[in-house]
Amino acid sequence: MELEAEVVVVGAGIVGLATAWQLMQRFPTKSIIVVDKERSIASHQTGRNSGVIHSGIYYRTGTLKAALCVRGRSQLLDFMNDHEIPYELSGKVIVARTSEELPLLRQLFDQGQRNSVAGLRLIDGSELRRLEPEAAGVAAISSPSTGIVDYRQVAQAMADDLIRAGHLVTLGTPVDSISSDPQGVGLWRNGNKFLRGRYAIVAAGLYSDILAYRSGLSRNPRIVPFRGEYWSIDNGRPLVRSMIYPIPDKRFPFLGVHFTRRLRDGAILVGPNAVLGLAREHYQRQLAKGIRVIELMPTLTFQGFWRMAFRYWKPGLAEMHRSLFPMAYLRLAQQYVPALTRDGLLPGPVGVRAQTIDVSGAMSDDFIIDQMPRVLFVRNAPSPAATASLAIGEYLIGQATQRFGW
Ligand SMILES: Cc1cc2nc3c(=O)[nH]c(=O)nc-3n(C[C@H](O)[C@H](O)[C@H](O)COP(=O)(O)OP(=O)(O)OC[C@H]3O[C@@H](n4cnc5c(N)ncnc54)[C@H](O)[C@@H]3O)c2cc1C
Repeated sequence: MELEAEVVVVGAGIVGLATAWQLMQRFPTKSIIVVDKERSIASHQTGRNSGVIHSGIYYRTGTLKAALCVRGRSQLLDFMNDHEIPYELSGKVIVARTSEELPLLRQLFDQGQRNSVAGLRLIDGSELRRLEPEAAGVAAISSPSTGIVDYRQVAQAMADDLIRAGHLVTLGTPVDSISSDPQGVGLWRNGNKFLRGRYAIVAAGLYSDILAYRSGLSRNPRIVPFRGEYWSIDNGRPLVRSMIYPIPDKRFPFLGVHFTRRLRDGAILVGPNAVLGLAREHYQRQLAKGIRVIELMPTLTFQGFWRMAFRYWKPGLAEMHRSLFPMAYLRLAQQYVPALTRDGLLPGPVGVRAQTIDVSGAMSDDFIIDQMPRVLFVRNAPSPAATASLAIGEYLIGQATQRFGW
């Protein structure tokens, strides 16, 4: 069967849905179909993340990440207020454990100021203890504009608005590739064109490189899946009031081991670490389970992966060690919350980040958009893309307007 739509969006994660939602605001007469391979929306990164509303402090000034996080956060708050979605601006602290870390803390603070993050304060050890009595550290940044939310609820509200306005969200519909000709675009599955539209926007998360490649774009940069394993903390008394973060290692696009509170049930989680996913959707807690050789081989035969692995073999092995040995993980977590005990550290959920790596082995540190005639591809949308989703959507619609003459 051939359905018709003005714009087809591939991917019902928060980036695809926010893009469709922004499209509906800007061009109310354009018909939209969102398609996703899963039977429910937000099944992957969006539904398996830390649930943090980021402030924008971490991202290099001048990048899309920095600009779209700050703008997207404020759009997200408006959206959640309008839709009565619960969230808490509970704030967080980013901790310097030793005086050697103080210059890095200062640099991060200055970057936050440049990025126009509101309310940041440098605080000393005693104020840190007033905010987070169990945290260890000599100083910290207090970021009161950081918050928590369940992003599945946000994605659901976006999908509900689209459906109410007469658009379609079609689930259980995998797409193999996308073709384009002067009249429009076609979505293909098992050699059949099953859907036509005038334009398409693709936000396929962990499969974004494969879909781009099968549609005729470059194979690179490639997605390398990075598992993020969480531990749940239950020490009989609350060890964390809101959120405790380390100063991130600038070499990596990940934020390091942090403590967060999950809005849905109040659970305190510590994580996520960053170890190689042995499949793109590798959610089994035990690393050895859920391996998909067909997905692992392209990573293991990719030059860019090995270049990255050689460059960072030491921190990579340390992450793997801590993933396999809970006591090692505990020792790292105790540097921030010393009262944590082994008994209080319980296996928690697993998420997988879609992180692009180029042939030189560099991990992309910004959002990446690619294009072919009539189609935009989101190739890299890692954290804080959930916080920034509405601004990413707005940006994509702006790009489509310019490039496609809408
Ligand atoms: C462990 C972890 C913690 C994170 N913490 C935070 C945080 O606290 N705050 C924050 O802002 N961000 C966070 N992020 C990042 C954030 O979750 C992601 O950047 C964001 O969810 C990306 O959204 P997306 O729509 O691009 O991808 P996804 O949510 O992965 O959605 C992609 C969709 O595309 C669909 N799809 C894929 N291939 C196909 C195909 N061939 N055909 C049809 N459909 C297809 C998938 O089924 C999926 O639904 C975290 C991510 C992870 C993994």
